[in-house]
Amino acid sequence: MANEKPPKRGYRAVVDDKVCKPYNCLKCVEACKFLEAISQGENGPVVNLGECCGCGECAEECPNKAIKILLVEVPQPPRLTW
Ligand code: SF4
Ligand code: SF4
Repeated sequence: MANEKPPKRGYRAVVDDKVCKPYNCLKCVEACKFLEAISQGENGPVVNLGECCGCGECAEECPNKAIKILLVEVPQPPRLTW
């Protein structure tokens, strides 16, 4: 059985879709060293809040300043109870 854990706050990459969309170059995905933290979605890059560590490499590499590192609520994996 799994119990929901309350979200925690942490610094994560947040993509401004309106700024990114005309470019959609995916340099941010190439720049990230963490395999599942950011990936190509249907409409541009998608950040996996559970895997992103907020290092900012993607934001540094974005030529259009479409990524900011912001304090956001991060969903926690469910607590397993038996
Ligand atoms: S690097 Fe910037 S503009 Fe390019 S896909 Fe990523 S967020 Fe969008
Ligand atoms: S902040 Fe770091 S870990 Fe998160 S998506 Fe960007 S490069 Fe990857």
